[in-house]
Amino acid sequence: MVRVLVVLLGLASLGAEAQWLWRSADIMGTRITLQLWCESEEQGEAAIEAVLKEMHRIDRAMSPFRSDSELSRVNREAGQGVVAISGELFRLLEKSQQISELTEGAFDITFASVGDHYDYRRGIKPSDATLGGLLSAVDYHHVLLQADPASVRFARPQVRIDLGGIAKGYAVDRGIVILRRHGIEHATLSAGGDSRFLGDRRGRSWRVGIRDPDDKKGIKALLPLNESALSTSGDYERFFMLDGVRHHHILNPKSGRSAEGVRSVSIVGPEAVTTDALATALFVMGEPAGMALVERLPGIEAVFVDPTGEIRFSSGLAAQ
Ligand code: ADP
Ligand code: MG
Repeated sequence: MVRVLVVLLGLASLGAEAQWLWRSADIMGTRITLQLWCESEEQGEAAIEAVLKEMHRIDRAMSPFRSDSELSRVNREAGQGVVAISGELFRLLEKSQQISELTEGAFDITFASVGDHYDYRRGIKPSDATLGGLLSAVDYHHVLLQADPASVRFARPQVRIDLGGIAKGYAVDRGIVILRRHGIEHATLSAGGDSRFLGDRRGRSWRVGIRDPDDKKGIKALLPLNESALSTSGDYERFFMLDGVRHHHILNPKSGRSAEGVRSVSIVGPEAVTTDALATALFVMGEPAGMALVERLPGIEAVFVDPTGEIRFSSGLAAQ
């Protein structure tokens, strides 16, 4: 009798126990995974729901695949005249411009002016003629921002923008803000190749694998990370092969073709919005120039995997 009572009490208090919770969902065209330590299941579930809701909200605003997103509206109208935009989109466009300046145009959201003519699923790339006609529309200087009230205008009608190189990192940062608001102190949150680590793994470091570009299960290196963001850009995420050339989803804004010379770049830093955009940019810049830039940026580290599979760390990681 006493034992039954103890078991029943135990069941009743299950939900109030501190525990790890894990959840995954498909949002923003990618896999979202979230793992957190909570004081009660109720607290944890509420935090998870709030984070997923925020991801859906960002997707609705910034998806290029939804005709009713704010981004799609800008793409339809900003070539013709000034378009009023939300403060949130304004800040993300401003951040994109800053990263473009920092990376001498390697990161450029107007890549979409030609990028929209690729279809990786169907193996389609723009012809040289199409590319020739549109390449001059690829230039972040064509995105003219105005504050108070926030608005944007494109300098040329053919300009299109896409936030695929920065929006997932932004969404991950927003998710971390929400987790903190819910009193969560230990968590990881990933959207595809963009992750953040909140706190530690309760006394231990989070350990993150840098993937082997040629082997889904292979790990090139393990990084111990706490309280930071990690983004990886690789040529193995979305691509098709044509005449021996790998056409993948990171474009060199200068040529309008897939960037070459690197297999993957991983960036570590304080915020995912920055690591996401820098990983894309440094993939375009390649190793000597990209690594040199990282060495100049405080709090930012990089891991490059080159075409021979060789791995190289920036000085802050190599020293660990
Ligand atoms: P993912 O996590 O989707 O693999 P990455 O962060 O590696 O994304 O960035 C690739 C995405 O960035 C592309 O799918 C495209 O939307 C966008 N992109 C491609 N080339 C550039 C570029 N030169 N500058 C900015 N964004 C880019
Ligand atoms: Mg990126």
